[in-house]
Amino acid sequence: MIGFNIPLYTSKTTEYIAEVLASGHVSGDGKYSKLCHEWFRNKLQVRQALLVHSGTAALEMSALLSVQPGDEVIMPSYTFCSTANAFVLQGAVPVFVDIRSDTQNLDETKIEEAITSKTKAIVPVHYAGVACDMDVIMDIARRHNLLVIEDAAQAFDSFYKERPLGTIGDMGCLSFHETKNVMSGEGGLFVTNSEELSERAEIVREKGTNRSKFFRGQVDKYTWVDKGSSYLPSDIVAAYLYSVLEEAAQVQAKRKYIWNRYYEAFAELEKEGKIRRPIIPEYATNNAHMFYLLFNDLAARTNFIAEMKNNEILTPFHYVPLHSAPAGKKYCRTCGDLKVTNRISETLVRLPLYFDMTEAQIDMVISNVLRFCR
Ligand SMILES: *Cc1c(COP(=O)(O)O)cnc(C)c1O
Repeated sequence: MIGFNIPLYTSKTTEYIAEVLASGHVSGDGKYSKLCHEWFRNKLQVRQALLVHSGTAALEMSALLSVQPGDEVIMPSYTFCSTANAFVLQGAVPVFVDIRSDTQNLDETKIEEAITSKTKAIVPVHYAGVACDMDVIMDIARRHNLLVIEDAAQAFDSFYKERPLGTIGDMGCLSFHETKNVMSGEGGLFVTNSEELSERAEIVREKGTNRSKFFRGQVDKYTWVDKGSSYLPSDIVAAYLYSVLEEAAQVQAKRKYIWNRYYEAFAELEKEGKIRRPIIPEYATNNAHMFYLLFNDLAARTNFIAEMKNNEILTPFHYVPLHSAPAGKKYCRTCGDLKVTNRISETLVRLPLYFDMTEAQIDMVISNVLRFCR
């Protein structure tokens, strides 16, 4: 059986976790949290990078920091539910706009027609780790005085015109869930370059207290100063993450190798009109988060998934578009017909892609795809 994803850990993971357990500091913001913070502040060249317990938590912090009840937030419907749910929790209304048919990213040409007097923010999702057209989105946001919150959950080590994804908008959210490129089981990162948001983010993350300032000696006692919640992970989780970050270059090289094997293997199928492969615009990089195929219709995809499963290869699809999900209908609004979203959600399928995939497993997936399509 070839699974769709197998979580990874390294030769150091258990050693670092054991060290945390022995250290007497197991709660948040210990040694490994600090190492992760430094790692990301360096790599992303960003003012604030805070570990949180999930990508969902990073989105919830962004929502807490940006919206009031009744505000509207523009985002794609073709995304994971947390993108919308984080804002719904604050009483805001997600407004869904269609996606582009090349990248499956928010269609920047359709954003402005969705803007109303209630619009507060735009939430671009970098689908499959491939950048949205951020210059255009940032320009729209600045002209309409809106915040931009990047859902960069899939976008570790990916760039837009050489700028790391997650650092271009006002806030960015990364995920280290076990299905992402680098992982700690559950985990996430909140980033911002804004001085004001940076200070408030520390408070929101620490149950609404100014405890971070207290630890830095900037205030002599800490207290409840704003609304917030508990978003920091245990240092055990940070130790796991740090062990994987140390191997990030290798992880990325292997993922890109697998991605390229698939990409080349299916070139002919694309020419024959059987499938379409991922498209990476010239302003974007490929972090090999995901390899997907697009079929011509729902029936072809359904048959493909069944056939692959018969051959013990798991090839899931996603997403049920949020505008057609029960909670999406209840809490959100749609702008336009979302034609591309509906089509992509019926025709996209993901192939297995994980660090420990063997050459034989890659070959097996490729030969089964080729056999099915012919
Ligand atoms: C994974 C993911 C999330 C949520 O991240 P978690 O760490 O699982 O909470 C949010 N948005 C997108 C686009 C994702 O892929």
